Amino acid sequence: MSGVIRQKPDWLKKKIHLQETYELYKLFGTLNLHTVCKEALCPNISECFSKKIATFLIMGCTCTRNCDFCAVKNGMPDKIDKSEPQRVAEAVIKLGLKHVVITSVTRDDINDGGAEIFAKTIAALKAVDKELKVEVLVPDFKASASSIKKVIQANPDIFAHNLETVPRLYSKVRQDAQYERSLEVLAKAKSFSKNIYTKSGLMLGLGETEKEVLDVLADLRQVGCDFLSLGQYLTPSKNHYQVHDFIHPDKFIYYKNKAREFGFLHTQSGPYVRSSYVAHEYLS
Ligand code: SF4
Repeated sequence: MSGVIRQKPDWLKKKIHLQETYELYKLFGTLNLHTVCKEALCPNISECFSKKIATFLIMGCTCTRNCDFCAVKNGMPDKIDKSEPQRVAEAVIKLGLKHVVITSVTRDDINDGGAEIFAKTIAALKAVDKELKVEVLVPDFKASASSIKKVIQANPDIFAHNLETVPRLYSKVRQDAQYERSLEVLAKAKSFSKNIYTKSGLMLGLGETEKEVLDVLADLRQVGCDFLSLGQYLTPSKNHYQVHDFIHPDKFIYYKNKAREFGFLHTQSGPYVRSSYVAHEYLS
């Protein structure tokens, strides 16, 4: 669905200050690394980069899927670079991170969906600092048990997979994904390790109803999901799925309270919350 971008309300007027992003842009350029902060046009980029926080996007910045909500480009994916895990570790040392989030584009072109590269990146990070908290935000791996197990066996601290939206809207915004399959990813991760924390996230403002959101929260708890992030969807361009409504900050607080009642251990909920926003707070 495309159209005219709607006027944002007052609570969504965060500005990006490019001078605050310069140092990290330079570092990632030197190390030839990608971040989802830049590729997904995250509105928190100057806030996070000025605090030397970033979310790494591994296995290139071209996705094999073409979700209508996402700013990451689609097309022929990049070749896998075997030195990337080491370069991510180098960047983490330089930034002095204590909690790092690693995500990737969806790599349907690779047999295991890139699970091995995730595992190698986790291993490289744990090798430089065994106290480092490593969170992986993975694609659905088509719910392949062996891929999910490969990632879990590398011992990340948090295994995250975002449902992104309610099941009714999958055909409009996540065309190549399946709601039940994504739930299965989280269920399998939990079944492979009792110690793993699982996490998921939803974008709000795509046209979902309150009941649909609460049903998703119940489904997530059903598969043992521990952590939740809820944020406002923002249209990346006029060619992407358009914002249906702007959710008032009070409604985000309402959902956060509901999430607590459902039993989530920690929830971040607010207009500018993104899956990796203040990621270290989930474990504190
Ligand atoms: S919220 Fe996450 S994706 Fe956005 S700038 Fe911060 S670390 Fe990057």
